[in-house]
Amino acid sequence: GINFNAHVVKKDFPILRETVNGKPLIWFDNAATTQKPQSVIDRIAYFYEHENSNIHRAAHELAARASDAYEAAREKVKVFLNAKSVNEIVFVRGATEGINLVAQSWGDQNLVAGDEIVVSNLEHHANIVPWKRLADKKGLKLRVIPVDDSGQILLDEYAKLLNSKTKLVAFTQVSNALGTVTPAKQMVEMAHAVGAKVLLDGAQSVSHMKVDVQYLNADWLVFSGHKLFGPTGIGALYGKEDLLNETQPYQSGGNMIQDVTFEEIKYHKAPNRFEAGTGNIADAIGLGAAIDYVSKIGIEVIGQYEHYLLEYATNLLKQIPGVRLIGTAAHKASVLSFNLQGFTNDEVGQALNKEGVAVRTGHHCAQPILRRMGVETCVRPSLAFYNTTQDVDVFIETLWKLKSGKK
Ligand code: PMP
Repeated sequence: GINFNAHVVKKDFPILRETVNGKPLIWFDNAATTQKPQSVIDRIAYFYEHENSNIHRAAHELAARASDAYEAAREKVKVFLNAKSVNEIVFVRGATEGINLVAQSWGDQNLVAGDEIVVSNLEHHANIVPWKRLADKKGLKLRVIPVDDSGQILLDEYAKLLNSKTKLVAFTQVSNALGTVTPAKQMVEMAHAVGAKVLLDGAQSVSHMKVDVQYLNADWLVFSGHKLFGPTGIGALYGKEDLLNETQPYQSGGNMIQDVTFEEIKYHKAPNRFEAGTGNIADAIGLGAAIDYVSKIGIEVIGQYEHYLLEYATNLLKQIPGVRLIGTAAHKASVLSFNLQGFTNDEVGQALNKEGVAVRTGHHCAQPILRRMGVETCVRPSLAFYNTTQDVDVFIETLWKLKSGKK
């Protein structure tokens, strides 16, 4: 028995009262982005109504309110990830910017021709392209951890890729295309054993499971607020404090300097050295409200409920003849990608949309892993804690109807 009622929490999300084609909206596109509870929407409005100011730079009351709220949000991210210090939390635009920051600052400054970067076959394009570009620019070797037919990392093959030239391992905790949960802690340890640094992509994990950066011991971790029931345009890069302070800035301008003359520039320490210019103050505060919301329910409770819901949906989906599940790892979160024989992915997506069910179809910005699974595209329902078994039933019934309508 899980002490959690999805019907109750659903009421906290105003958009889930929308209708689509006359049907109640069923949001099964949570891996792309999540919906926002009223408390997040209200918090952002409150900022603009009562606190709006630039931060850190003024003597007046509103600057103090805005700065306090912004730094309180940083503290919430710190607690959420169990980081040691708020100095380890850099606000960025999202996971993509966090990865680019590490590639273009630390990577560009520390890697030399012949060094090796390891990524997994599961990665989102955001955790491939920045490394591929860096590798091409600097003559690095980009190596890829293969997966088995279920879509799980092959640890033996991973071990074979690691050597003294490996300087960085970058991989995801949860695959956005397959839902695979990778053995992150073990993989971090294996990388550290050869002296490599590790960047974890938490874009798909933070909303489904407890992510503890001290336990995982990764050197960096990135995530996006919009996939955690918070606003778009804000996310966080966690980095170990010493490592951040040893790294030269990514972008430069106001906010990040201690002292400027035309002869010499002195940078602030982290996190400010990585937050050049006026950041997304309102949405950082909105992200803080999202973390409050999730923490009130409890991320472990969310994980348990979603596990139950994913199993429920998977078992029903498997019973439909012609369904091929894409990604069948034993340890999965949220995602149940599939193809339906005899129908294009677009036809399936349109049929679902007619019933109010929002799913993504396409390659999900993860072309290498879909090709590894033998497909170019798929249909990707992805679940969150405000989805119910009744939502799943509508989804499943629609697929049965689609099948009986044709042929
Ligand atoms: N990594 C993964 C695993 C993702 O799922 C996503 C978003 N689909 C990203 C990175 C990029 O996140 P964003 O677009 O919010 O920067």
